[in-house]
Amino acid sequence: MRYLILADVHANLEALEAVLAHARRVDAALCLGDLVGYGPDPNACVERIRALPKLTCVAGNHDLAAVGAYDISWFNSYAREAVLWTQKQLTAENRDFLAKLPLVQTVEGCTLVHGSLPEPMEYLLSAWEARATFQEMTTPLCLVGHTHVAEFYFQGDDAIMPQQRSLLHGGKIELEAGIRCIVNPGSIGQPRDGNPMAAYAVYDSKRRTVAVRRVPYSISAVQEKMRVANLPAMLSERLAYGR
Ligand code: ZN
Repeated sequence: MRYLILADVHANLEALEAVLAHARRVDAALCLGDLVGYGPDPNACVERIRALPKLTCVAGNHDLAAVGAYDISWFNSYAREAVLWTQKQLTAENRDFLAKLPLVQTVEGCTLVHGSLPEPMEYLLSAWEARATFQEMTTPLCLVGHTHVAEFYFQGDDAIMPQQRSLLHGGKIELEAGIRCIVNPGSIGQPRDGNPMAAYAVYDSKRRTVAVRRVPYSISAVQEKMRVANLPAMLSERLAYGR
């Protein structure tokens, strides 16, 4: 099976469409949460993702915030403003879909969670922090999002510490027996690793590979929509820098 891996789409329809066109044929889709928040097209993005073949999807903090199920007092003012705007936009059907998303899912040797396994809404930013997720993993592969940074961690069965590697410009990971992996495909709708191109991945369960890719899209078209929607300028400006 070829699984399309999507993370942190953040209501950016232009980036999502570019990724879907670039990925071409896939058998199933895995979504790591934060479908909405920040961007100008929450309903269109949720509907596009819901229509993907054999979708498995977990909730992100912005998804739960958009349905009033997450405390946004810790969000920065830009994120909070975007959450409140998103709450007003969502249709009842899309709100219902987001509200029912589970925090963790497992599919064919692969665990999906937005942030980390011990704490689904916490950031996994270092090899040190990856240890707790490796300890809780019951599959050889775990997929995470949330940081908007494309990278992966791996740990051999006998190793004490995991290793961390960047996927800033994409790359292919060969999954080997005896080595477990945590892959963050990066963000489709708001990359923060310095590369403004949309980031996504394809997991090939037969060949045992995960390929992370970057795709250009029309950033200016999204920025114009955000200006019209009166979303915070800072959120739109950062798209151009991938920060
Ligand atoms: Zn996010």
